Amino acid sequence: MNAHESIAELRRGLLDKRYSAVELTEHCLAEIDTSASLNCFITVARDEAVAAAKAADAAIARGEAGPLTGVPLAHKDVFCTEGVRTTCGSRMLANFIAPYDATVVSKLAAAGAVCLGKTNMDEFAMGSSNETSWFGPARNPWDPERAPGGSSGGSAAAVSAGLVPCATGTDTGGSIRQPAAFCGVTGLKPTYGRVSRYGMVAFASSLDQGGAFARDADDVATLLKIMEGHDPRDSTSTDTGPTAFRGPEPMTIGLPAEYWDNLDAAMGARLEAATRELEAAGHALTTLSLPHTRAAVSAYYVIASAEASANLSRYDGVRFGYRAEASEDIDELYRRSRAEGFGAEVKRRILTGTYALSIGYYDAYYLQAQRVRRLIRQDFLDAFNRVDVIAAPVTPSVAFELGAVTDPVDMYRQDAFTIPASLSGLPAMSMPCGMLDRLPVGLQLIAPHFEEGRILNLAAQYQRRTDWHRRHPDISIDAGSRAEREGADAV
Ligand code: GLN
Repeated sequence: MNAHESIAELRRGLLDKRYSAVELTEHCLAEIDTSASLNCFITVARDEAVAAAKAADAAIARGEAGPLTGVPLAHKDVFCTEGVRTTCGSRMLANFIAPYDATVVSKLAAAGAVCLGKTNMDEFAMGSSNETSWFGPARNPWDPERAPGGSSGGSAAAVSAGLVPCATGTDTGGSIRQPAAFCGVTGLKPTYGRVSRYGMVAFASSLDQGGAFARDADDVATLLKIMEGHDPRDSTSTDTGPTAFRGPEPMTIGLPAEYWDNLDAAMGARLEAATRELEAAGHALTTLSLPHTRAAVSAYYVIASAEASANLSRYDGVRFGYRAEASEDIDELYRRSRAEGFGAEVKRRILTGTYALSIGYYDAYYLQAQRVRRLIRQDFLDAFNRVDVIAAPVTPSVAFELGAVTDPVDMYRQDAFTIPASLSGLPAMSMPCGMLDRLPVGLQLIAPHFEEGRILNLAAQYQRRTDWHRRHPDISIDAGSRAEREGADAV
């Protein structure tokens, strides 16, 4: 038994009583301990996990197993969990214990999943490398000197390293797809509104969407079935009925020139091989254009920052989180709590967002960005009149080294391929489709609104024909001794 097995395989093992949920949980907790240097977890909920595993074993014994009974999982630390701290990767919330569970958390618990803890993330989900986390970055299990991606880097790394078979994440501009690509796991950002945002710490409310990481598309589909659905506590969640896990057969797959042109040659070759495999499976490829996506990064960083500046105004040192000691008056309390509680990237977003919303600049920046957003969305809607799904790269490169991207705008550009679908509210996923310099490459699949079943189905077809999703890194040596060994090799 190990957490590199799929949910389906683990479930079979549990129901056949080859091992108990407690044994599986203890195995995963031991793996988490051995891999502590990967820094995937901000909080390990050991006692809670063992108690949940005991309850799962009792349910199995009674013949009352749900779809995830006894399956270990981790939540991105952006989801509120009653009784276990929710830090959002920030000093501001380092000691925050939510009085309730997020809807995603309670739904997965009701399905029987055993939550092992809360995973590392960029502060308030702002970042593409996990380096803005107050708790230090999670590390990429394929190479601990490299970034796991962000912001849901801890979740992607934990699944990749086999610490858990699945994990939740959130995606505002790419935070599920980019780390999934960097860590070589399957990750889905559902349609905006498919999954409730209740209890998810807000970054940019018109973009934030919860989703999942797992070994393969079938497992992601299992998770989505449980997570999705209208929630009366989130008025933007929608009631469109359950996802249909199928698509037209065969499908027409559009390849947007704006994404495929100017790709690094080796990266382009890996991705093209993946689209050829889809073609070999009977689907048709065609090129198309999404002309306005070129402006997506600029529009996103205005809109997301504007929304963040409003959402983060609640952290005032009074009602939530970090409070600076010994302030003279209320203004100083606000000022110092926010100055000390937030990191540099979060402050940068609050400043630029506030600027974009201020009188005199609102029309030039915020309104203009909203207009661009509309044009990008229209590009996709037009494209989906011609094609069933869109295939694209997820990232311009494989995982970069920690510390390698220092300019904030260079970091923002990492999201160029993921942001357009986010601005359009479309479902999109990343699936492993090759290796480059011993690091995973991900292919992005984008579907029309509420058609995530289409891309999950297509990914499942691909994964039946290939085994990229089954590869996993060798983490039997920890980061420290790996560095030592490499040092010794160099001598
Ligand atoms: N990297 C993007 C940002 O920093 C996206 C983050 C996300 O999707 N949460 O905003």
